[in-house]
Amino acid sequence: MNPFTKRNLFIPVSIILFAGLLYSFNKLLPVLGNHVQHLEFIAISIIILISTTVMLFWSILGVFGGLASFLIAMIFLYRPITDLDPYYYSVLIMAFFVSSIVGYYASRKMSLSNQKYTITVEKVAEDTNLIENHVKSRSAEVSAMGEKIGSLLKLKNIADSLSLSLSSDEIIKIVAEETSSIFKSDSRVLLFTVDNSRMDLNLSCAVKKDGRKAFESKNGGMFDKWVLKNMKSLLVKDVTKDFRFSLGVNEKKDDAVSLIINPLIVESNVLGILRVDSPHASEFGQYELRILDIIGGLAAVALENARLYRQTEELAIRDSLTGLYVHRYFMERLEAEVKRALRSDGTFALLMLDIDNFKEFNDEHGHISGDAVLKNIGKILRSKTSAGDIVARYGGEEFVFLALNYDRKKAIDLANEIREEIQNTPVIIRREKCSVTVSAGIAVFPEDAKLREDMIWESDRCLYKAKEKGKNRVCSK
Ligand code: GH3
Ligand code: MG
Ligand code: MG
Repeated sequence: MNPFTKRNLFIPVSIILFAGLLYSFNKLLPVLGNHVQHLEFIAISIIILISTTVMLFWSILGVFGGLASFLIAMIFLYRPITDLDPYYYSVLIMAFFVSSIVGYYASRKMSLSNQKYTITVEKVAEDTNLIENHVKSRSAEVSAMGEKIGSLLKLKNIADSLSLSLSSDEIIKIVAEETSSIFKSDSRVLLFTVDNSRMDLNLSCAVKKDGRKAFESKNGGMFDKWVLKNMKSLLVKDVTKDFRFSLGVNEKKDDAVSLIINPLIVESNVLGILRVDSPHASEFGQYELRILDIIGGLAAVALENARLYRQTEELAIRDSLTGLYVHRYFMERLEAEVKRALRSDGTFALLMLDIDNFKEFNDEHGHISGDAVLKNIGKILRSKTSAGDIVARYGGEEFVFLALNYDRKKAIDLANEIREEIQNTPVIIRREKCSVTVSAGIAVFPEDAKLREDMIWESDRCLYKAKEKGKNRVCSK
């Protein structure tokens, strides 16, 4: 404790001043006695003044100050007062006692009320602290709640956007971008799709903020593969301290320290992996993992819907026996191709093929064998296509082949190639090799026709000619 506190210095200083004052009275009173007649008035005034001062010393400075002032006053006033009249000195003592008692009680009262005041002030300060802490924790809760509401609203946005899309690529992009907007600014979102044939991952979309490394392992790292294998969500607070994993070379090179991963599962099939990682430890907890699980659930359903839609679309445009396009879809594509070729001065050839004497083949070998022949022809035709070419089953045993950028010569060569391959590729029926032949008619755009219907009509006409000329041949204008 510092002994030179204000109060500790105040007591001796005021006592010294008081002593100085009394010393002056001591010197002044005898001088006054020579000049003033009614000294008793002055003496009484001094008694009243000094005893009031003693009372103040008691009440303000406490017991030590009071006693000191009492004694000093007694000492310094003894001589001048008794010189005046000894009776005044007894009055002085009485007055000092009374003022000491009054001062002492006043000081007791003051210190009690001081204590009460201090206690009240301390209590108020304590209450204020408590209230401040409460307000702080409440406002932290409110802002955390605000963040949670924000992320739930974003979840609703994701659900709304996903419900509008039936394209896998679009869904993957929406999921990655919206997920990135939910998590903290330095997080990185990776969406892998599963390559079912190899049961491997394929990085389909990555959203990262500036300052984050690009993810190097395009087929996923050990954490992603763990999730794919176990079909469970994963939360790693610090990759360097998680005893379940010992880091591989790729993980050591990467800047991810904490991560959460969710498998996109539909009916026990993993369609993909959604991962969010951060360069800081403990960035994610159970709440973040739950949010990712919800997004993962929405994404998985949307991806499955897109896959089913694609499948339905394919079923609607594919012939179930041969796998070739159906008549209706071919006509649409032919129409589009005619328009495109007209715009760009392009050229293409239309081949129409028909199996020779197929009715007889069916009668001899049965319809199931006929179906096997149709399938085989479908396979051969598909193998002859280049990018942009379209092959379709036009009718029962008739096929069409749209060869882009083909002139007449190239188209005749192609048709003959197909014809020969069909003839030389027999199907095995009851251990017997059976083969069929085809005839083909060719129309070339724009030399033979400039309209879709005319192209069909022209190729059909040439096919009829090939049949007439003895079948197993190719005809063109
Ligand atoms: P041509 O050489 O003049 O074309 O004689 P063709 O017998 O092939 O001609 P036609 O049009 O008389 O007969 C077509 C046959 O194709 C009739 C039908 O049995 C057969 N066919 C059509 N669609 C299918 C099918 O999906 N499966 C099988 N197995 N046969 C089919
Ligand atoms: Mg036929
Ligand atoms: Mg026919």
